Amino acid sequence: MKKADVIVTGGSAAGITAAITCRRHYPEKSILLIRKEKQVLIPCGIPYIFGTLGSPDKNLVPDAVLKKNGIELVIDEVTDIGRIDHFVTTANGEKIGYEKLVLAIGSIPIIPPIPGVDMKNIFVVRKDVSHLQQMLEQLNRSSNLVIVGGGFIGAEFADECRKNRHIKITIVEMLSHCLMLTFDEDLCVVAEGIEKKYGINILEPEKVESFIGDSAVKGVKLASGREIEADIVILGIGCAANTKLAEKAGLELGPTKGIQVNRYMHTSDENIFACGDCTEKVSFFDGKPSGLKLASTATREARIAGANLFGTRRINEGVIGVFSTVLGDTAFALAGLSEREARQKGYNVVVGESEGPNRHPGGMPEMANLKVKLIFERGTGIILGGQVMGAKCSGELINAISACIHEKMTIDNIATFPMGTHPALTASPIAYQLTNAAEMAIKAMKSD
Ligand SMILES: Cc1cc2nc3c(=O)[nH]c(=O)nc-3n(C[C@H](O)[C@H](O)[C@H](O)COP(=O)(O)OP(=O)(O)OC[C@H]3O[C@@H](n4cnc5c(N)ncnc54)[C@H](O)[C@@H]3O)c2cc1C
Repeated sequence: MKKADVIVTGGSAAGITAAITCRRHYPEKSILLIRKEKQVLIPCGIPYIFGTLGSPDKNLVPDAVLKKNGIELVIDEVTDIGRIDHFVTTANGEKIGYEKLVLAIGSIPIIPPIPGVDMKNIFVVRKDVSHLQQMLEQLNRSSNLVIVGGGFIGAEFADECRKNRHIKITIVEMLSHCLMLTFDEDLCVVAEGIEKKYGINILEPEKVESFIGDSAVKGVKLASGREIEADIVILGIGCAANTKLAEKAGLELGPTKGIQVNRYMHTSDENIFACGDCTEKVSFFDGKPSGLKLASTATREARIAGANLFGTRRINEGVIGVFSTVLGDTAFALAGLSEREARQKGYNVVVGESEGPNRHPGGMPEMANLKVKLIFERGTGIILGGQVMGAKCSGELINAISACIHEKMTIDNIATFPMGTHPALTASPIAYQLTNAAEMAIKAMKSD
């Protein structure tokens, strides 16, 4: 029987990162990565296939990264795990032995039980090149696109599908605003304003009751009784952990039906680790179960799992959740808790905001507006969350805010942290949004 010290099952964000991390920490070990698909898509790049990029082959992870790190690649599907004798069986009938096994088998899109959902031209977003190619071809033939779900995936698809084609786009969202599961209402309203400016129709709060058509979809019937035309539908309502293989092997699942792992990414079998979308997660803030599924979280867990394979070196303190997106030219980002979520969790919060140009003077090239909102716990002054909107530097700034949350920095720590500024690169040191948002929170606390 063929053998490897480490077998990683899954070849996307978590699998690749777990294998590379193992190589860095344990250079002497043999590592074999098994994945189902021939070509791996960059998952977060999928919406951009339908506009900016124009084709699935422009959105692939090169396999060179595996070769460069001495990781053997097998394209096959793991169908069984022999936990007692430490081997996996594949769809091609191979048996491969392991000392440590990592499951990074990801997630699968949720298909809602709506009548007519299995009609032709109704697509979920699967991380599969030929599926996305078919979706692109249908989109290019269509005049009416209905997107079910106005979360990140729905909003990004709408913004990309409008580019380089004439098509009527409608988002159907059951909450009162798009992106409402992530951001506070003020940011959602700005994001929707941008979508509407580009002609995207948003129906909210509204629900799809059924799909209309024969073999192919022709329209959507809404809970309000209204009917709208559709020759293509995209379902963007989330995904569930892929746990089939783990369940078959008798591994424990957790409360959100992900593979149960401890703080070191061990499953209920000490020789099997799991990371990424397939695993159970807990919140950094209160240790309660979290359904968050992000590539950034997946790779962080993979860095912990990969390092812990032959000795405990890293611990997972739970998910903070860092989201970022861009609609039109405006970036939106969040780390940690929104104001609404912090209040729902029972925190007594104080909020500070600061807004202004991200260059100084404002007449410098590439100047854009940047707004920062910070949420602190009253009393301790510890940061709980941040939201950033406007300039494209928001994507990096939110990562700095996430580091502040992770290190439990206080309002004063942030108001006085040693930042650097430059006219062509940042806001002025006098009006620096991150420090000033903390100062505004101090002011709000004093005036209460
Ligand atoms: C449209 C879209 C946009 C997104 N945008 C962002 C974003 O901007 N930022 C962000 O942080 N996250 C984003 N995400 C979420 C992100 O894609 C996921 O969190 C990420 O892909 C999780 O990575 P993973 O490796 O855990 O799982 P997956 O990407 O699901 O990969 C699972 C892997 O396991 C393999 N596999 C499964 N079962 C088996 C088996 N039995 N044998 C062998 N191989 C198997 C699969 O083939 C695949 O290679 C987005 C998701 C979508 C769908």
